[in-house]
Amino acid sequence: MTLAQGRQESSLAERLSAIDARIADAARLAGRDPAEITRIVVTKFHPASLVRDLHALGVREVGENRQQELTSKTGELEDLELRWHFIGQAQTNKASAIRRSADAVHSVDRDRLADALHRAAEGDDVLDVLVQVNLTADHGRGGVAPDDARSLAEHIMSLPSLRLRGVMAVAPLDEEPASAFARLHAIAESVREVEPAADWISAGMTGDFVEAISAGATHLRIGSAITGPRPDRG
Ligand SMILES: *Cc1c(COP(=O)(O)O)cnc(C)c1O
Repeated sequence: MTLAQGRQESSLAERLSAIDARIADAARLAGRDPAEITRIVVTKFHPASLVRDLHALGVREVGENRQQELTSKTGELEDLELRWHFIGQAQTNKASAIRRSADAVHSVDRDRLADALHRAAEGDDVLDVLVQVNLTADHGRGGVAPDDARSLAEHIMSLPSLRLRGVMAVAPLDEEPASAFARLHAIAESVREVEPAADWISAGMTGDFVEAISAGATHLRIGSAITGPRPDRG
């Protein structure tokens, strides 16, 4: 990197604190306490060394969306105290590898995946899970249909090694995030009728976390605004 580039580019620490300031502002504007919002830094495609840098800056909650990357990074960073959130589409045959490495799985979108995660339990450990809801009209997207979220929540409640924490969604590209997140909020309420303690709403990314905070998000999943652009997937 040349000196000129070095001056132009913000540092990881600067980007992190800028985002945290924006989160705090958005929370206050929405009449919420910033302390009730968890900022998860999504580190997918970035090397484990970046997660180590984030940890040195005080980050403790990180997110990954691919099982192999989750497994290798958690292995490499075993010495660090971190909470790993799995936020990607999960194949059933990867459930046990995911369970071994993740502290929370945000992307449970079908009974069979919940069953596979439950079967992978070792001893009496309990895994935090969220029901991922598909807010788009495209059935091929990840997430359970909104009308089926409640019955998936009921199924999860029947599996003692899973602890239902709430709901997760990604806003559709072709809709105002505010209206999509308002629908998610209503779905979250119906899930809380099944399990009152399931009060997490995982929503909001780099482009829409302010709207997510207004709509009650408790867990933000922010990647590129903090980490910088993702390296090529190769
Ligand atoms: C990559 C990813 C994010 C973070 O996206 P950014 O736009 O980089 O903040 C959040 N949620 C999910 C499910 C993702 O895959």
